[in-house]
Order: sequence, then structure tokens, then C-alpha cells
Amino acid sequence: VKEKGKNNYQLFTAEMQKNFYRKMMIEKQLRVALDQNEFELYYQPIIDLKTNEIIAMESLLRWNNEILGQVTPDEFISVAEETGIIIPIGQWVLRMAIQQNIIWLNEGYKPLKTSINVSVRQLLDPMFVDNVKNAIESSGVDASNIVLEITESIAMYADSTIEKLMALKKLGVTLSMDDFGTGYSSLSYLNKYPLDSLKIDKSFVIGMNQDHENTAIVKTIIAIAKQLELRVIAEGVEGQEEASYLNEMGCDYGQGYYYSRPLPASEFEEKWLASDK
Ligand code: C2E
Ligand code: CA
Ligand code: CA
Ligand code: CA
Repeated sequence: VKEKGKNNYQLFTAEMQKNFYRKMMIEKQLRVALDQNEFELYYQPIIDLKTNEIIAMESLLRWNNEILGQVTPDEFISVAEETGIIIPIGQWVLRMAIQQNIIWLNEGYKPLKTSINVSVRQLLDPMFVDNVKNAIESSGVDASNIVLEITESIAMYADSTIEKLMALKKLGVTLSMDDFGTGYSSLSYLNKYPLDSLKIDKSFVIGMNQDHENTAIVKTIIAIAKQLELRVIAEGVEGQEEASYLNEMGCDYGQGYYYSRPLPASEFEEKWLASDK
């Protein structure tokens, strides 16, 4: 028994060591990733559930490292946040997403909003509001077509962030609360923040039809949004049933594999813009 216990312990440390090494490698490679031009933005359509038309797209970061290969955002965003590298990466994302929005507008496609994920760490950066202002002004983009998706965890920093959100709102950007219903929840900030929309987290939407509790949560979030006159977007829409049920429940927009996976810009253009011209 003792032997076995010892082996388990060794296995555990080996696993820990492997994870630690991987995280270290991610951190090391993240530092050169921007210079090596290893990031790419993918785009996923956001669909009006009533008309089935595309109204926006979310930009989602992809990283293909020369040593680690493809690393998922769930793996590297947290490391980028811990180390602060998210600040320059976030700036790159902001500029690229805005630039792409303008490119498509100039190509003659109908104006669409572009959603950009902003992590708490970015929002807490004293330069953030100025960076957004500069990115908007230097590009000439219509600010309202830029949607900043902010997670619920900003509620933990409520006092310092309210002013920032107000300043961003003043620039004319659209503000959306991401991953709504997960993590730190306090409803009290909802009417204090100058929000335009809420995104229902995919964990409540996936398999909703088989899960009455999740359906109840989705219904409740939609009701809250309506009360506060916010638009509601459901992420993680994987089937037609979910899409029509969400529409019946009064959800405004849907996003998920049912419509499309996130795609590289060129593919997104071909599949979602060119046909709609
Ligand atoms: P998120 O903002 O909640 O984005 C939605 C995630 O769900 C994306 O994962 C997307 O690919 C995935 N997804 C979309 N539709 C479906 C579906 O129908 N089913 C399922 N199972 N998943 C779906 P992704 O691209 O791996 O990104 C993960 C997270 O990484 C994002 O979650 C976001 O928090 C973060 N992230 C991604 N790009 C950026 C970025 O540019 N900046 C920052 N700060 N964070 C980012
Ligand atoms: Ca998001
Ligand atoms: Ca989410
Ligand atoms: Ca998120």
C-alpha cells in the first residue's frame, strides 16, 4: 500500500511538473509571439434570431506558436493576464479588429458591429481608455460599431471601473457584459454600468432543451435584460431547436456552432459577407 501511495505521489508530481513546464513555455513564447506575428483573429457571426440575418461578429484570438503549435485562448489568456502581456496583445487585437471592420466596410459590405473581448486586466490599465480613443480616432471607424465585451468579474472592482465604462461609453462604443450568469454575481451593478447588452454564457445555453434548470436561468437572464432595456445575446447556440426556443423566449441574438464556428477573416468574408452583399 505504501508503495502504491508513493507511486501515486510521483505520478502527481510528474503531472504537475509537466503542467508547470507547459505554463512556463507558454509564458516564454507569449513574450515573442507578437514580434513573430503568430496571432490571428478569427470571426464568428452573431445572428438576429428573428430575421436570421447576421448583425455582428465576435473577434476571437488564435495563437499558432512555432514551438508549441496551436494554443487555445483558454490556455494562454490567463497566462497573458497574470504576466501583463495581455496589455500589448489586447492593443494588437483592438487595432486589428477595428482595421478589419473598416476593410469590410470599404469593400462595400453592409456595416456590421465587431465585438472585441477585453479582459479585466486591460480595463484596469490606466492607458486603456486612451488607447481605445486613439484606435477609434486614427481609424475613423464608427465607434458604435465597436463592441467591447467585458466580463462579469469587473464587478469586483466596481468603483474604479464604473468611471472607465462611462468614459468608454462617452467615446460612443457599445458595451456588452460577457459570460453573464457565471462567476462573481452581483445584480446591483447592472443598472449602474452603462451597458448596451448582456451575453448569456454558453454553459447555460448548450443542451438547454434537456435541462430545465438551465432553461429557467436563460429565461431569467432574458427577463432581467428586458427590464433593464438591454439587448440579449445567447452564445453556444449549437442546434436549430435552441435557436427557435431562444427566439420564442425573447432573446434577440444568437451565436454558436449551429450558425458557424469562428473562421479566419478570408473564410468569414466568403461565407458570411460576400453572399449577403
Ligand atoms: P468567450 O468570450 O466567452 O467566447 C466564446 C467562446 O465559445 C469562444 O471560444 C468560441 O469559439 C466558443 N464557442 C462559440 N460558439 C460555440 C458553440 O456553439 N459551442 C461551444 N462549445 N463553444 C462555442 P474561444 O475562441 O476558444 O475563446 C475562449 C475565451 O478566450 C473567450 O471566451 C474569451 O474569454 C477569451 N478570448 C478569446 N479571444 C480573446 C481576445 O482577443 N482577448 C481576450 N482578452 N480574451 C479573448
Ligand atoms: Ca466574448
Ligand atoms: Ca462565454
Ligand atoms: Ca469570456
